[in-house]
Amino acid sequence: MNGPKHSCGVVGVYATYNVVPSLHKALNVIQHRGQESAGITVFDGKTANTVKENGLVTIALNERNLTGLTGLCGIGHVRYSTVGSKAVVNAQPLTVETTRGIVAVAHNGDITNFHSLRQKYLDAGWSFLTDSDSEIIARVLAKYLVQINDPIKAIRSTMGELDGAYSLTILINGHLYGVRDTYGFRPLCLGKISDGYILVSESAAIDTLGGELIRDVAPGEIMEITADSYFSHPFTGVSPKAHCMFEWIYFARPESIMDGREVYAVRKNIGMILARESPADVDIVMPVPDSGRAHALGYSIGSGIQYEEGFMKNRFVERTFILPDQKQRESAVAMKMNPIKSTVDGKRVLIVDDSIVRGTTLKKLIGMLRKAGAKEVHVRIGCPPVIAPCYYGVDMKSRDQFIANFHTVQEICNIIGADSLAYISISGLVEALGFPENDLCLACVNNKYPTHIAGETYRFQSNFKDDFQ
Ligand code: 5GP
Ligand code: MG
Repeated sequence: MNGPKHSCGVVGVYATYNVVPSLHKALNVIQHRGQESAGITVFDGKTANTVKENGLVTIALNERNLTGLTGLCGIGHVRYSTVGSKAVVNAQPLTVETTRGIVAVAHNGDITNFHSLRQKYLDAGWSFLTDSDSEIIARVLAKYLVQINDPIKAIRSTMGELDGAYSLTILINGHLYGVRDTYGFRPLCLGKISDGYILVSESAAIDTLGGELIRDVAPGEIMEITADSYFSHPFTGVSPKAHCMFEWIYFARPESIMDGREVYAVRKNIGMILARESPADVDIVMPVPDSGRAHALGYSIGSGIQYEEGFMKNRFVERTFILPDQKQRESAVAMKMNPIKSTVDGKRVLIVDDSIVRGTTLKKLIGMLRKAGAKEVHVRIGCPPVIAPCYYGVDMKSRDQFIANFHTVQEICNIIGADSLAYISISGLVEALGFPENDLCLACVNNKYPTHIAGETYRFQSNFKDDFQ
């Protein structure tokens, strides 16, 4: 079984016109959140119809298979690439038919009690078509909908069964909802577009549709949208927050604004704080494109050292991170990046990247820089050492893949062949984000989990109880 392992992007649009083109555009904008499959479900006034396929948005959802798909409200999904879970049956939105109509769900995040929940319902005689946590959400929601016949109460009851991370868009018979777990792990925001409203993982998609960001969906909130208004059903219980810091460090687009913080601004702050914490005597600062760009700019501003572009990236080579073996990953990095000789030849250079996971990227890049004539190569990293797996939707799943689990910073510096290496501190990262530390999920860097996970350390001494009454 593949189990739940995806970080994804979700969208929902309600308007006075056919929303399929808007959903398609929005999915394109959040393509970076998932490249394995894409899908759209729209309600045509009578029933819900779905098109979903493996591949990038423009390939999976094309003129041929979208022909005839129309509706005034609908949801969409892009699914993240992970090795070995390519079955199109796992693509979303996931739809189930009930006596109250069709329920369609698009999900971003990981449900941490997925296995026990699935077992509970298997024991109760249910059967499942997929091994995805999103199917559980859709089926449990369908169950409550049939029992209660009140979508908000049914969604609330479903949330009461789910642990972990979920931002959802849900379509129930021409009613469109957005939901965020009470911790707010994954983003979801609300926007106004022409003659309609949108719920989407990242605000960049609202910009592209010519709309305005209204606000984030609050943790635990259920938001309903129609073509002409939105209705909030706030969470009335008490829950700690745990926004995933990696959204800002790496995952989201720089222009997106999540929970009030623009991603680009946070990355620049990170770079400036890195410059303060770990100065270096070098000639130039350069990014590892594209993910390290804003961090490097921040470092340059903070240190007053000249910013240069020293790597050119082949924009058509992607997905080095997810390749199954080390040799393939290394040669893919070489395919993807090439140094600019005049930038680095004879210079003491400092490169800034967003994060080190296995260390593959930097080891290869530093070798290239030396070959291109760099005199010294110093490295600064915008994320504290990643040491612990993510159970909430980022594809960093096992401790043995993290180089920082086995080596000290100095050892890693030697392994990647750098003259110096420094990571931002956890307190520096928290400062850059501007949230109280306890409102963030920092589990991958401090090994303390904001929810109860078997075998892992819980971040709070006392036990907060979620209240779903
Ligand atoms: P490493 O080469 O150390 O294994 O991974 C670090 C590089 O991968 C960084 O350049 C970073 O931008 C990128 N990266 C970090 N996390 C992820 C992720 O979850 N997915 C993908 N595709 N790339 C990542
Ligand atoms: Mg990168």
